[in-house]
Amino acid sequence: MSTIKILKFGGTSVGKPSSMHKVADIVTSTEGPKIVVLSALSGTTNSLVKIGEDLSNGKGKEASKEIETLYQHYLKFQDELVEKENSKAKAQFVINEHFSFIRSLLKVDFNENYTKELLAQGELMSTKLFSIYLDEAGYRNNLLPALEYMAIDENDEPDMEFIQKNLKALLQKHNGYDLFVTQGYICLNADQKIDNLKRGGSDYTASLVGAAINAELVQIWTDIDGMHNNDPRVVEKTKPVAELSFDEASELAYFGAKILHPSSILPAKQFNIPVQLKNTMDPDAYGTMISSEEKSKEIKAIAAKDGITAIKIKSTRMLLAYGFLSKVFEVFEKYKTPIDMITTSEVAVSLTIDNDSKLPQIIEALDDFGSVTVDKDQSIICMVGNSVVEKKGIIKKIFDALEEIPIRMISYGGSKYNVSVLTESKYKKEALIALNKGLFDL
Ligand code: ADP
Ligand code: ASP
Ligand code: MG
Repeated sequence: MSTIKILKFGGTSVGKPSSMHKVADIVTSTEGPKIVVLSALSGTTNSLVKIGEDLSNGKGKEASKEIETLYQHYLKFQDELVEKENSKAKAQFVINEHFSFIRSLLKVDFNENYTKELLAQGELMSTKLFSIYLDEAGYRNNLLPALEYMAIDENDEPDMEFIQKNLKALLQKHNGYDLFVTQGYICLNADQKIDNLKRGGSDYTASLVGAAINAELVQIWTDIDGMHNNDPRVVEKTKPVAELSFDEASELAYFGAKILHPSSILPAKQFNIPVQLKNTMDPDAYGTMISSEEKSKEIKAIAAKDGITAIKIKSTRMLLAYGFLSKVFEVFEKYKTPIDMITTSEVAVSLTIDNDSKLPQIIEALDDFGSVTVDKDQSIICMVGNSVVEKKGIIKKIFDALEEIPIRMISYGGSKYNVSVLTESKYKKEALIALNKGLFDL
């Protein structure tokens, strides 16, 4: 194991000059060598997405207006970030360089590749500005270009071999530094083009970097004091969970706990690297420690994932025949659409997907097997805890709490870490509040 720590700071942690100063304090008071992974300033990626959409839809005027608003935001930001004239000149140079690229997109035949390049500008700017601030404050640091080591393969999966080889080579080349700064989110794809790890992907960068160099610890610094027991955007009374196992945290991240990118725990689990969630605004708060340790059998937290589509295939002839499910699954495999939940009965099988971009083709293919019904706007509510399915009385508690909520599907026993139910999204809030009361007495 190397002694390097990975510290990742999200958008709000670097969203204001004063917050970026705080990040520098946290980083420089952390002992030992470290790699700092930064997101774009808060709001930037959303704004770049909007610019890209406007450009794709031929709305040049709107795009131009959005670009200039963002540009002014960055000029003001750098002015408050650094003090010395030569630092301001460096920061303005960086901003002007990136905005001249962004403006150049107003004149091209805009396509998918440009979108990815456009989206990369946020992380490229935030890391350069942070590095200029560290320089001014007298902290020796080295900027590691993520596009030289972070890569995904043709299936959009991280190319671990490439990442390990290239990151290690870069660190070796700059040995002697013990403070590195790098971009979250952005990467190269199998065609060597700029791409990204999907929204919220800087968390994934941090754990991939941690895994690649077998780091001592990965810290995810954000705007809340750790993983809460329920979604704080929906439920008023929530509280942080001090310890989680890798499996518990993975389930919560996958099923909608936005504090972590859905895949971000997997590399850390694979290489057994503890992941700590910390609050930039309150560094003394304990946060959440995620490790291989599995402790209590209680339900620790609840998460919800929206935008789910339920598909039911009803067949009187074929369902119980062997090979039927395999044929159904083949359809989803063909259209590269993962299934989240599944339930079966004598005459029907119901399953859920969260990516419905291939739904029409999937329905057409499934029509050969029986009558197909589709329900959109569903939410999976997922209750997570180690060995939760082995604990007596849990199901009664859940059903008592959800007494008033119409439930479309239930999944129990698939893994020992979670119990999930599917309901229409319009009942999500009521369900989360009821479960908070029934399971945590909050
Ligand atoms: P960052 O920009 O630092 O990556 P995010 O906005 O992606 O931050 O994630 C932090 C946010 O995740 C919190 O502000 C909170 O609203 C939301 N969130 C959703 N579910 C949870 C949860 N179970 N625990 C903590 N935060 C959660
Ligand atoms: N900036 C990217 C986003 O907003 C990545 C991240 O913040 O993790 O999705
Ligand atoms: Mg995030």
